[in-house]
Amino acid sequence: KEVLRMENIVKVYSNGVMANKGINFSVLAGEIHALSGENGAGKSTLMKIIFGEEQPTSGDIYVNGEKTIISSPQLAISLGIGMVHQHFMLVPSLTVAENVILGVEPRKGLLINRKKAHRQVEEMADKFNMQVSPRARIEDLTVGQKQKVEILKALFRGAKILILDEPTAVLTPQETTELFEELKRLKSNGYTIIFISHKLNEVKELCDRISIIRQGRSMGLYDMKD
Ligand code: ADP
Ligand code: ADP
Repeated sequence: KEVLRMENIVKVYSNGVMANKGINFSVLAGEIHALSGENGAGKSTLMKIIFGEEQPTSGDIYVNGEKTIISSPQLAISLGIGMVHQHFMLVPSLTVAENVILGVEPRKGLLINRKKAHRQVEEMADKFNMQVSPRARIEDLTVGQKQKVEILKALFRGAKILILDEPTAVLTPQETTELFEELKRLKSNGYTIIFISHKLNEVKELCDRISIIRQGRSMGLYDMKD
């Protein structure tokens, strides 16, 4: 089943740069899908379009088979799309749990009070084997731990499709190993992962398929098991 389909995506920025020149991109439910290509190929632009941070100049997007205009990150989140940015957007003086629940609207079945939130964040971290204390302050965490918080934040908002933009660029080898274990665990729980990377060894180890873009165009889609 296809959870995301992008057809003929073109993006021209206001300065005239054509970052995407007709990209096709398709992601299946429950896969780890790599998006690869050299610097400037248009990867970040494509991901910003999926997450509603940029609007395509032309082209169509289907989420779970339905044609959709992703007009804002809020809409992307409500569609179950989560983004783990390269530069973390966390509040350093707040705790892990406070950051995770920050900005989540109280909704049915999710009553936000501090104690309950701490427990929920703890349970979620345990479930995916992410060792980070809900009570720790962000400013006291390592980069690898901050990344876990970003992932938890997306999951807490109901993400089923998780986008990670060059997540290993800031990690030690040990932290990279931990991240891959977490992502494999998410996959086995039915989550879909889009993994932006140009490191082929990582892609081979982690991913099911890889889409390659070059100079704003789709260059190929390969099955990593072949
Ligand atoms: P990648 O993520 O593959 O490195 P990007 O999508 O960041 O590629 O960039 C593709 C091209 O678009 C580059 O030439 C880049 O300079 C340009 N670009 C990216 N963001 C903007 C922007 N906000 N405004 C203008 N040009 C941009
Ligand atoms: P990344 O590839 O991870 O987005 P960059 O350092 O290429 O990181 O870009 C940092 C930010 O600057 C991004 O938000 C990108 O969209 C923006 N940007 C990149 N190139 C340009 C450009 N030529 N003009 C304006 N903004 C740009």
